[in-house]
Amino acid sequence: MTGTIAIIGAGQMGSGIAQTIARFGNRVLLADVSLDVAERSLAGIEQSIAKLVGKGKLEPGEAEAATARITPVGDYQRMGEAAFIIEAATEKEEIKHAIFDKVGPMLADDAILASNTSSIPITRMANWSPDPARFIGLHFFNPVPVMGLIEVIPGLATSQDTVDRTVALAQSLGKEVVLSQDEPGFVVNRILLPMINEAVFVLGQSTADIEDIDKGCRLGLNHPMGPLQLADFVGLDTCLDILMVLYKTTRDSKYRPAPLLVKYVEAGWLGRKTGRGFYDYSGEKPAPTR
Ligand code: NAD
Repeated sequence: MTGTIAIIGAGQMGSGIAQTIARFGNRVLLADVSLDVAERSLAGIEQSIAKLVGKGKLEPGEAEAATARITPVGDYQRMGEAAFIIEAATEKEEIKHAIFDKVGPMLADDAILASNTSSIPITRMANWSPDPARFIGLHFFNPVPVMGLIEVIPGLATSQDTVDRTVALAQSLGKEVVLSQDEPGFVVNRILLPMINEAVFVLGQSTADIEDIDKGCRLGLNHPMGPLQLADFVGLDTCLDILMVLYKTTRDSKYRPAPLLVKYVEAGWLGRKTGRGFYDYSGEKPAPTR
């Protein structure tokens, strides 16, 4: 499909989603907390696309056309032009709730409102939107231009038409789809986050150091990346937010966050996006921080 798709939240995920959606011929309206932030995100996308051109993975003309399709916006005035609005803002319920309150009245009659949340229940968020039948979870994976999967999560009131159109959008972006019921963490994060959390407990108990924990999982489990490095890529704040949602929603103590994860987040060591997490990203190669 090609059309106009709006993205609210232009961070790691929103920028990757914008890049991918524009690459497949759609126009993108990209919003964040201000026009300035959205414009900076577009500058980051231009750099990321330039790297693809440098590696010979994209023609310069295609790259230029893709970035020209992305328009940073400073408010929600033009959101009525979009067939889909994809929310990819910070994983906090109060932030997402405020966004849906503001964008809801702008939603076109047949447009779909989708959230890229990693863990907040879709049925709960659908109730903050003008039409829960047209609300759905559309969960991309990081980095979006590279990863081949999207989880699609209907809420209790989501219509079959909304599911069908959302699956069609995901497939039009060259992704495979996994359908998940609206259960905490959906499928992939329900499995991944306890593994990342356990790796942080292992580190906190000095059972092994950062490199050996990651090496153990790379070579012993055949994972392409160890759990601590993956946590840095996801963002340690996002990992903590997801664990807290799982913990509060299920009241199951197996999701309690490792104290060391909380400490890293309190220190502002959020992973690759801040230059430091379990690894330091300031040099040529990531170096362990403990
Ligand atoms: P991020 O911190 O990189 O980006 C969040 C963005 O939201 C920031 O640019 C921030 O300025 C913006 N934002 C905050 N309040 C806003 C508001 N009121 N209006 C508009 N924008 C606002 O986080 P991220 O990793 O991109 O995660 C975004 C969402 O995607 C979260 O729901 C997260 O759970 C989900 N997600 C993350 C990953 C991952 O690997 N990081 C994977 C899948 C899904």
